[in-house]
Amino acid sequence: MQVLWFKRDLRLSDHLPLFEAMRNAKHHGLVLPLYIHEPSQIADAHTARQHQLFVHECLDDLQQQLVDVGGYLHEELGEAVEVLAALHAQFKFTHLWAHQETTQLTQYQRDQAVAAWCKSMGVVFTELPQNNVQRAGGEKLNFQTYLDRAAQEEIKNPTGRNLNVFFAPKPPVELNRATVPHAAGVDKPLRMKGGRVQARAVATQFFTPAKLKSYPFSISSPLKAWNGCSRLSPYLAYGVVSDREVLQKLNALVNTVHGQGDAGLIAKVEDAARFYVDRLIWRQGYLQQFENHVVLETDAFYSNEPSETKHEFLAAWQQGRTGFAYVDACQRYLQQTGWLNMRARATLVSFACVQLGLPWQPVALYLAQQFLDFEPAIHYGQVRIASGTSHFSQMLVYDPLKQQAEQDPKGEFVKRWLPEFGTADYPAPIVDNTESLKQGKARLHAMRQNRLL
Ligand SMILES: Cc1cc2nc3c(=O)[nH]c(=O)nc-3n(C[C@H](O)[C@H](O)[C@H](O)COP(=O)(O)OP(=O)(O)OC[C@H]3O[C@@H](n4cnc5c(N)ncnc54)[C@H](O)[C@@H]3O)c2cc1C
Repeated sequence: MQVLWFKRDLRLSDHLPLFEAMRNAKHHGLVLPLYIHEPSQIADAHTARQHQLFVHECLDDLQQQLVDVGGYLHEELGEAVEVLAALHAQFKFTHLWAHQETTQLTQYQRDQAVAAWCKSMGVVFTELPQNNVQRAGGEKLNFQTYLDRAAQEEIKNPTGRNLNVFFAPKPPVELNRATVPHAAGVDKPLRMKGGRVQARAVATQFFTPAKLKSYPFSISSPLKAWNGCSRLSPYLAYGVVSDREVLQKLNALVNTVHGQGDAGLIAKVEDAARFYVDRLIWRQGYLQQFENHVVLETDAFYSNEPSETKHEFLAAWQQGRTGFAYVDACQRYLQQTGWLNMRARATLVSFACVQLGLPWQPVALYLAQQFLDFEPAIHYGQVRIASGTSHFSQMLVYDPLKQQAEQDPKGEFVKRWLPEFGTADYPAPIVDNTESLKQGKARLHAMRQNRLL
């Protein structure tokens, strides 16, 4: 028997381990599809209730997808090695399939523990790469080549087939999800919902000529971004869709526009498509960078980085009570939706780390809990840049008043998300903008002379 272990790859389409397990069923035995609710991962400080509920919605949807092809999803509660050991005692499986983990160190270490257990039990553990990420130290592939290939290749999608004969008999004991411990925090009222059906709806809305054409002009302001960006990030982060599927969707749209023969429209859509692909290339770049430099999550790059957390500043920033209306409105919006456009994310981090002098660690952790699409590689890469503490990038500082003037000139965003603005209940700015920018930049310049790594 074989076990197919789903982690941050909650889909059937473009799922190589699934395909390989099914293909090998004749030789290695029938396939048991498994998801493990791991208490240690649920208790990890980065995991919030919104992530957990999003995952549960994805699992419901995955379960349905599996039923539709004649299978089921078996869920277990426990640490991965314990769960696998118990299943092994029961079913004596010989092969375990999964995608390679290219996210947090804790998850990579969990996979190493699983690999050691498999070795000790004589179970063949095959971890296949995804997102074109090469295991650290491996040869770095050209992502453009991957994209070009991905655009042409036929994506393996079992939907519509009956694969019943390849599935192992369903284990008799079903998990009651109510017994799964809750992650910290509360759910967000306006967050996106999990699952392939939802992902498809979000993609269908975005991949139209009109939307794509205006995409490059809609990404900077939080006023336009919710409708103007693809918002596929949570679905990519949990592998509900693959980057190759997104690319094919984009290509299909470009081809349709070509078919319509409107030269003006073709040029605009092609430009916007390139702009979009650039972001997918960045995504892959961050995943690979993180794979090669795991210390991004943990280590200081400079000897004199801020290390002391001014708790009243951190609390004011988290609660949207800094007296900087644009920053506060962004926090409030994020608290409700679990999503924010890139520039606004960078502005939040820059303000916290450069102007309030907060260390990047508590800032990164808080935002990880807030972003539904928390993707460790992108997140830590970007936080390190916006806080000025990454030597992989130039210093980038975002003036919050300038951002407000550019991105919300009429104050509509602030008015909507920060109702107390302009009332006696709204605090005065906790720092002077000009002075804190000046000091913050000077501190960064000095800090960047003291490189550790
Ligand atoms: C401080 C900070 C933290 C961030 N944390 C995360 C995170 O945890 N998870 C996450 O997915 N993105 C993160 N980003 C990147 C970016 O903000 C989001 O990917 C984007 O806002 C997601 O919305 P979207 O899907 O509509 O993006 P779109 O504009 O539609 O882009 C499509 C896809 O490209 C990728 N992408 C877009 N922008 C970037 C970028 N700047 N860097 C890398 N990949 C990108 C994402 O996968 C995204 O889904 C962060 C950015 C900053 C500045």
